[in-house]
Amino acid sequence: MTIKRALITGITGQDGAYLSQLLLSKGYEVHGLLRRSASADVINSRLIWLGIADEVILHDGNLTDLSSLIRVLGEVRPDEVYNLAAQSFVKSSWQQPLLTGSVTALGAGNMLEAVRLVCADARFYQASSSEMYGLIQEPRQSETTPFYPRSPYAVAKLYAHWMTVNYRESFNLYASSGILFNHESPLRGIEFVTRKITDGVARIKLGLRQELALGNLDVKRDWGHARDYVKAMWLMLQPDRPDDYVVATGRTVSVRQFCELAFGHVGLKMEDHVVIDPRYLRPAEVEVLLGNPAKAQEALGWVAETSLEQLVAEMVEADLARLKRHSHL
Ligand code: NDP
Ligand code: GDP
Repeated sequence: MTIKRALITGITGQDGAYLSQLLLSKGYEVHGLLRRSASADVINSRLIWLGIADEVILHDGNLTDLSSLIRVLGEVRPDEVYNLAAQSFVKSSWQQPLLTGSVTALGAGNMLEAVRLVCADARFYQASSSEMYGLIQEPRQSETTPFYPRSPYAVAKLYAHWMTVNYRESFNLYASSGILFNHESPLRGIEFVTRKITDGVARIKLGLRQELALGNLDVKRDWGHARDYVKAMWLMLQPDRPDDYVVATGRTVSVRQFCELAFGHVGLKMEDHVVIDPRYLRPAEVEVLLGNPAKAQEALGWVAETSLEQLVAEMVEADLARLKRHSHL
């Protein structure tokens, strides 16, 4: 049996780490694109956390450098390419709109172009986002809901999404786009609201801090677990024909409710600790997102396996354990 090879851009991120773990468990040879950093000692911390840092093969490259992508694809000759790399934090996209466009939008264009030139038979996955729905046009968003982006990040993701569709239609590439709703885990970046909350709750519980400063508590998100969502990425590249799929839980809750669950998990009350800081408000907000994953369920057999309550508990426990080990962090 021939061993399948995958190339993951964004392998050092949350999803890249979980996807690597999944593909390794399926017997894949897993390669990743690694952008050069002065902090090389911490760059693969998520892969280390999952215990797989020595099992993946990393290649020096950057999404903004087409020549590096062509070189790496030529070296790896992958069967499957997962394009997860991005400037992925919405709030930063107002501070660095053009960098976001260059990495998140044109970077995906570079990757598609490199695949077309070097390995046109490879199957390509694009990490699209529910942020593209922005100012929602339907109460439950599906593959047919019109998009209305509300941030430079979402505008950039929309370009990448339509380029994926266009390269499929123009060049017959096997290119699929997963429109994933928010997904979290103990490996989520600390700047995102869920991880910020679970880390804050753990610090307060351990007496390292008293307050947690947040922005808009009324916004609602459809939050799932990243470990479940990377399974959908892999499933999307297995059918005979490429297509686009929404991946979501079908349940939406507010930031306030997420906080109540996280504080409640350690026997605390959020009203005693949460303060509002206008610095965390956004120039334009996405008030509510709620996905309809029916197509992924029917066509791929995918379902979200982890409940929000389980997700919150896992994240709080992981942050408590992390802080007990390294209270200086
Ligand atoms: P992360 O922010 O955790 O990871 C982003 C990855 O992209 C990191 O590995 C980062 O490298 C890499 N990267 C950033 N810029 C470049 C560049 N110029 N060249 C090469 N690599 C680069 O994101 P997630 O894992 O959470 O998300 C994965 C993808 O899915 C992203 O595209 C995100 O926008 C999208 N998405 C995520 C959702 C979520 O809820 N998590 C929802 C919908 C879509 P480094 O480690 O060096 O910073
Ligand atoms: P996003 O959905 O990709 O933007 O993921 P985030 O986790 O960054 O934000 C989710 C929602 O939480 C957004 O609507 C934010 O406005 C809201 N939010 C409220 N307070 C905060 C905060 O302190 N930090 C972040 N990141 N988001 C916050």
